Amino acid sequence: MSLDADLILLGGGLANGLIAHRLATRRPDLRILVIEGGETLGGNHTWSFHDGDLSQAEHEWIAPFVAARWTDYDVRFPRRERRFGTGYASVSSERFRELLTRQLGQRILAGIPAVDVTPTSVTLADQRSFSARAVIDGRGARPSPHLDLGFQKFLGQEWEFDRPHGLQRPVIMDATVPQRDGYRFVYVLPFSPTRLLVEDTYYADRGTLDTEVLRGHLADYATRAGWGEGRLVREEHGILPIALGGDIDALIASSNGMPTVGLAHALFHPTTGYSLPDAVHVADLVSRAPDISPEGLARLLDAHARNIWSDRSYFRMLNRLLFHAGRPEERYRILEHFHRLPDPLVARFYAARLDFADKVRILAGKPPVPVFSALRVLAASRLPKESA
Ligand SMILES: Cc1cc2nc3c(=O)[nH]c(=O)nc-3n(C[C@H](O)[C@H](O)[C@H](O)COP(=O)(O)OP(=O)(O)OC[C@H]3O[C@@H](n4cnc5c(N)ncnc54)[C@H](O)[C@@H]3O)c2cc1C
Repeated sequence: MSLDADLILLGGGLANGLIAHRLATRRPDLRILVIEGGETLGGNHTWSFHDGDLSQAEHEWIAPFVAARWTDYDVRFPRRERRFGTGYASVSSERFRELLTRQLGQRILAGIPAVDVTPTSVTLADQRSFSARAVIDGRGARPSPHLDLGFQKFLGQEWEFDRPHGLQRPVIMDATVPQRDGYRFVYVLPFSPTRLLVEDTYYADRGTLDTEVLRGHLADYATRAGWGEGRLVREEHGILPIALGGDIDALIASSNGMPTVGLAHALFHPTTGYSLPDAVHVADLVSRAPDISPEGLARLLDAHARNIWSDRSYFRMLNRLLFHAGRPEERYRILEHFHRLPDPLVARFYAARLDFADKVRILAGKPPVPVFSALRVLAASRLPKESA
């Protein structure tokens, strides 16, 4: 039987889109097919990352996807305002879609979701079937009993104002806003002198989002900022996973031998929920894979997910402190305290590449949460499988 492709990338979101790009560039010998259930690739997101998250070589190949770039950014807390001299950049879904559509053309099949999937075949809702040497599952976040999660949820609005808004650089966290539903901050990206993305964001226990309420908060914020009249260009919203604990072996076993990438394989920064840097690393990993059978790819991707999970246990412990050691409306104090640290350490934190001295230093100083609650949370971290 002739195969429809060497590799089917199921789900044309961030992780599989970047894999498709790297394979098309580095393995033009492979026939790839991207199957996306939505109308187009890439959904409706702004994917941002810090300069320190990527190597020089990764920066070079991701550059065509980058729609905006800044050399520094600000954070604001009730008792601390600070500028960090590290770069920040954003990839837009629009740019992602344009680039991949140009590069892959007919190798994208969008509009009909898959209903049946095996490691070598995909059947769509319209009953068409496609076969390949292997299928890579990049269908995005899904609920799992094997992950213990908190949530970073937000509503973002992109505005074109009638006059300049006056912001030169991103405000990654403005936590001077009233604290409610956990740790709340506003995130602002100025795309041009008159255009910006503003997001009302919460580190919350519950993954539900009342968009009407958040729209009201954004309107209040814009009024207080004095941005004046403007036109709403687009909205985006997200409920990102914040890892508190879990059982990576059980999560991997639940993929039943399917090579899996992206959020579904716990490939995200435990504290920020960002997955772009991981998606970039995995795209390179897959493009170098010596064996593209389902077993070969699953072995490679599962080993990678296990390593990443074990490397990042410290972040999950910090998350448990954030979510469980203090009162929800006091959570901002932990972030305020953290942002006292030097720029390079903060950059390594966002890149999830802390060394031992960094880990000690983050926890040093007067604790911003009650000591006994913190000890209780830390003691729970000693369980064989992490739990909150
Ligand atoms: C609004 C928003 C903003 C974000 N901002 C950032 C950020 O700034 N930086 C960052 O690093 N991370 C960010 N994230 C988090 C994370 O990077 C994204 O969620 C990222 O898109 C996850 O990548 P993924 O490839 O795992 O899944 P996705 O990008 O969600 O891709 C999954 C794809 O699979 C498709 N699909 C699902 N089921 C089927 C099916 N049955 N058949 C066919 N196709 C299917 C979906 O339609 C989707 O296109 C953001 C998330 C959201 C929601």
